Amino acid sequence: MVQSAVLGFPRIGPNRELKKATEGYWNGKITVDELFKVGKDLRTQNWKLQKEAGVDIIPSNDFSFYDQVLDLSLLFNVIPDRYTKYDLSPIDTLFAMGRGLQRKATETEKAVDVTALEMVKWFDSNYHYVRPTFSKTTQFKLNGQKPVDEFLEAKELGIHTRPVLLGPVSYLFLGKADKDSLDLEPLSLLEQLLPLYTEILSKLASAGATEVQIDEPVLVLDLPANAQAAIKKAYTYFGEQSNLPKITLATYFGTVVPNLDAIKGLPVAALHVDLVRAPEQFDEVVAAIGNKQTLSVGIVDGRNIWKNDFKKSSAIVNKAIEKLGADRVVVATSSSLLHTPVDLNNETKLDAEIKGFFSFATQKLDEVVVITKNVSGQDVAAALEANAKSVESRGKSKFIHDAAVKARVASIDEKMSTRAAPFEQRLPEQQKVFNLPLFPTTTIGSFPQTKDIRINRNKFNKGTISAEEYEKFINSEIEKVIRFQEEIGLDVLVHGEPERNDMVQYFGEQINGYAFTVNGWVQSYGSRYVRPPIIVGDLSRPKAMSVKESVYAQSITSKPVKGMLTGPITCLRWSFPRDDVDQKTQAMQLALALRDEVNDLEAAGIKVIQVDEPALREGLPLREGTERSAYYTWAAEAFRVATSGVANKTQIHSHFCYSDLDPNHIKALDADVVSIEFSKKDDANYIAEFKNYPNHIGLGLFDIHSPRIPSKDEFIAKISTILKSYPAEKFWVNPDCGLKTRGWEETRLSLTHMVEAAKYFREQY
Ligand code: GLN
Ligand code: ZN
Repeated sequence: MVQSAVLGFPRIGPNRELKKATEGYWNGKITVDELFKVGKDLRTQNWKLQKEAGVDIIPSNDFSFYDQVLDLSLLFNVIPDRYTKYDLSPIDTLFAMGRGLQRKATETEKAVDVTALEMVKWFDSNYHYVRPTFSKTTQFKLNGQKPVDEFLEAKELGIHTRPVLLGPVSYLFLGKADKDSLDLEPLSLLEQLLPLYTEILSKLASAGATEVQIDEPVLVLDLPANAQAAIKKAYTYFGEQSNLPKITLATYFGTVVPNLDAIKGLPVAALHVDLVRAPEQFDEVVAAIGNKQTLSVGIVDGRNIWKNDFKKSSAIVNKAIEKLGADRVVVATSSSLLHTPVDLNNETKLDAEIKGFFSFATQKLDEVVVITKNVSGQDVAAALEANAKSVESRGKSKFIHDAAVKARVASIDEKMSTRAAPFEQRLPEQQKVFNLPLFPTTTIGSFPQTKDIRINRNKFNKGTISAEEYEKFINSEIEKVIRFQEEIGLDVLVHGEPERNDMVQYFGEQINGYAFTVNGWVQSYGSRYVRPPIIVGDLSRPKAMSVKESVYAQSITSKPVKGMLTGPITCLRWSFPRDDVDQKTQAMQLALALRDEVNDLEAAGIKVIQVDEPALREGLPLREGTERSAYYTWAAEAFRVATSGVANKTQIHSHFCYSDLDPNHIKALDADVVSIEFSKKDDANYIAEFKNYPNHIGLGLFDIHSPRIPSKDEFIAKISTILKSYPAEKFWVNPDCGLKTRGWEETRLSLTHMVEAAKYFREQY
């Protein structure tokens, strides 16, 4: 009999209960027992929801107070010494590793001051995990038994679950060596780790678990030979142990085909593959599967919000049943549903037709069940018919198709994506306009988003203040920021972005073809959740989006003010994209909308325009090959379509952060000036990579994520170091990123010191 399975469910709760509880605990507003109670309630709620939906295989241990990878580090005692010396409780140790901890001494507790572990993007998603950090002194041992406890908790409710664990090879491969052990290869720790996995697996078996899901998502990457060998070794080892639960080896976010040799013949009961993301792997995977193994068909999208097409999905599952038999097929979500919002029923403001296109995590449970019933010959005619109708109506919806937009995308040519003259010719024309000194200073765009700004925005959204009153307020904020920048002597000013709630949503709200949720939160990291806008149809810009604020800012100063926009790739990556057209098409539509905005800014007298692309790197396909090289080309082209409509003398800036950038990739954008995150990179080789970058760069000089204020001398030291391998003529001086999360006090001092340091170097050169 075909079974239905879910690989993981969002843990944040339908109303962000987890965020409220964890932050409440951090702020001392609730006790640890109250926090644990919220966790338990959320788990109970999720299990019951899945049980009631009729899901056969329900996950446990998919819950986490912070991050599931960090949970494993705690479980296996992969805790750097700096966190153990304070005698913190396990949960406080977990939070200290995840987010750092600074606490004054009290009568009963010691003072604590420790920074967080590194946080990295989870494959190509917008989820971030806390990186396992290994040292030669790491003492592997089990700390507690979270997976077993949560299995038993569900059992007590009468729900038999399949515990989820990140597999040993992915856990090691995604980790890194700590500063004190840089020559340590994490994969060399496999032998020490395997007995701990076995121990936890046998405990699960004793507790009554019959199956476990072990995730090895690294199987969709270009795995080096030693990692492929580690996969073989680990699962062969588990096969040799007796009395372990049956293992489903789960992969997602791509194809496993290039790593099939490592998986073929392994003693695992089932293999899960993502057929939403990589349907092309079907035949090869089925051919490779052993004659007793089960295939878990990941067919309900764990990464996007579109309603499933039951007919199409059922056909794929039926193909698997034909080859393997019903008993060896499971219908599953493509990945954990962690990456989708919790419940569409919480959306009160969506247009009814558009709402009908979507399916959030709760709705996806029903989808898995209906497909399973359908391929098992049960009567789901009504559901199938409703689904077919809905899928068909989306295809024809007036919200989706815009012939003018399609025609315009088709008309994009080389000329549209090329500036009139090359950089060497543009530069002197720009210098004539701006007459900037050496080491020009600027910022990335946003200034502190104060409480006052949020209050006024809320008032405006609720209608308690008029549009005129709000505009007046925004202008007064802009004026404050302009005067401040003039006062400390910055060279290229910004308006401070006080009118923006979020750098993508703000533009999305003004672009036709976008939809927004009121409660569609998705965990990004820890207690930080995002609410991605949804690209529903062809995208176009009915009118100017940012001109008013920039023009006002420029009208009150004689210094150049940068117009600020979010680039096409970032708008695409930080939204839920369409699944009915490719990403390139969506990027080009956004590029055209932004091109009009860039041109309007220029026409309104704005001479410097920055188009931010912080998500450029994260869009890079996970594997080398044609898809990746195509991305390099179209992502850069989209940026150039947006920015190439301006005169030579208009200066185009761009900004990148959150990633290690390849200078060659940025070069293809042909921006006149780029600013990149740099404050935490002191590797001389990395600096040298940018030496031959032809255009100008601002290497971000201080970390805007921290309230710490660098002194003038610190800036001088940092700049001197960079100058050893980077030329002064191309050197811009700026922070790492926007200042919106900072307070005014530290912003004022940090920027003042930064400008003083730039002045110091001007005198030297
Ligand atoms: N201009 C944006 C800001 O300053 C850039 C933000 C980002 O790169 N994440 O806030
Ligand atoms: Zn940034």
